[in-house]
Amino acid sequence: SNANLYELFLSRFPTDRTKPFLQQEDGRSISYSDMDLLSARMVTVLKDNGLSKGTRLLVQVEKSMEAVCLYLACLRLGAVYLPLNTAYVSAEVTYFAEDARPALMVLPEDKIAPFTAQSHRAMTMNDFVRAATTATPCPELAQVEKDDLAAILYTSGTTGRSKGAMLSHDNLASNALTLHKIWHWQADDVLLHALPIFHVHGLFVALHCALLGGSTVWFLPSLDIDALIRLIPRSTVLMGVPTFYTRLLQHMDFNRDLCRSMRVFISGSAPLLSETFTRFEQVTGHRILERYGMSEAGMITSNPYDGDRVAGTVGFALPDVQLRICDDQGEIVPCGEIGTLEYKGPNLFQGYWEMPEKTAAEMRPDGYFISGDLAVSDTEGRISIVGRAKDLIISGGYNIYPKEIETALDKIPGILESAVIGAPHPDLGEQVVAVVIRQPSSKIEAQDIQNKLSEQLARFKQPRHIIFRDSLPRNTMGKVQKTILREEIAL
Ligand code: ATP
Ligand code: MG
Repeated sequence: SNANLYELFLSRFPTDRTKPFLQQEDGRSISYSDMDLLSARMVTVLKDNGLSKGTRLLVQVEKSMEAVCLYLACLRLGAVYLPLNTAYVSAEVTYFAEDARPALMVLPEDKIAPFTAQSHRAMTMNDFVRAATTATPCPELAQVEKDDLAAILYTSGTTGRSKGAMLSHDNLASNALTLHKIWHWQADDVLLHALPIFHVHGLFVALHCALLGGSTVWFLPSLDIDALIRLIPRSTVLMGVPTFYTRLLQHMDFNRDLCRSMRVFISGSAPLLSETFTRFEQVTGHRILERYGMSEAGMITSNPYDGDRVAGTVGFALPDVQLRICDDQGEIVPCGEIGTLEYKGPNLFQGYWEMPEKTAAEMRPDGYFISGDLAVSDTEGRISIVGRAKDLIISGGYNIYPKEIETALDKIPGILESAVIGAPHPDLGEQVVAVVIRQPSSKIEAQDIQNKLSEQLARFKQPRHIIFRDSLPRNTMGKVQKTILREEIAL
């Protein structure tokens, strides 16, 4: 047997292969059979340009149907797909290229020159696609073992420099099969896809579920809320980051009737505010299904499809994932106490690219991976993410969890959202600083906030400084960039 992930997808193609796989609002679409043919042609172009099984393809490409086919071509060839965030500038692309040493790169026109000068193989997506249209399709599928690498995904860089997470064919396949099952994927599902395809959420979670279902995907080149509003009535599943949901709720035309064809709304990549969950249910009758994952393993926990989806929680460990919540020594903490989430399962990656020490440092001797996320479990095993270990504030010897203060802040009328960070303090080590975004019409002042918080939080948790901002710095995945805030707010 062949562990090639593409083989699994092939076995799940719809009976009628003329069924659209990806379709765009502008009328362009690609059927399952066309995708199969184009990706087979692309394999030939990849080979002609020096890529072979086990070598790496680095891409920085705009989201397009062809880019999805390129990913699939890479799987077919047994090469390793390495997509970069489209926002990265030349210097960053150079850093990743030097780190990853790809056999071939597909890059934007303006980023190619430095590489071709050094006789690296690099081409633009336009040239690649042009070559593919006339290339002879390569029908054979590379034979791969389950631990052979399918992709290296660079983490989002929220807590420091991005690390390359090495994912095998079986890592991806096992996680996709699990999600397809627990989210009750159905043959006639239509997925609404507005996520970037350089990240685990849009590339793996969303596309793999659709591929295993032989489903049609509404493929949006970027996040466009008006387009979501137009397409929701013709879709059944939406996967998004929390920003999708807050922005839908702000839209005049978003209402219950618009969502009548929808089966499930899924959220992840960043915490979904309870307030968003609650308002979404009031407006649409749908309880958003929140799940939690990371580049190193794909998905790890999910709220249940049947059964209670609870705001502010990320649900239960996936059926094939074992998890525990531990202290710094790796001892399991009593239920209800905060600790670091550790887990293992068939989805757990093969390590960080060329960082064996880093990989080893994050692993327990019994194979559990130390996620770096702080979490708490209830007696049933329902998990809540409390924040990142790196964001923990230690002030005067006390552990302070920013999430607890953010939750209290966000409940105060007049506050839209908040981010709590630690800033250096001569006596306390660190002090609590709150960055607050007011609701548009609100004039709430720092003193009002302090007064409200003093009824809710012990004194040592109360922010010593409250700073008002118009918005929080977020990356494309909707993650609040606390590293940026800490730099900007050097008190
Ligand atoms: P880096 O590891 O480079 O600092 P990153 O951790 O943001 O960046 P990703 O792998 O893209 O990179 O993101 C995984 C992280 O996103 C998780 O570790 C977790 O902190 C956060 N996350 C994902 N889903 C959720 C969720 N539903 N609720 C809260 N946090 C989430
Ligand atoms: Mg991370």
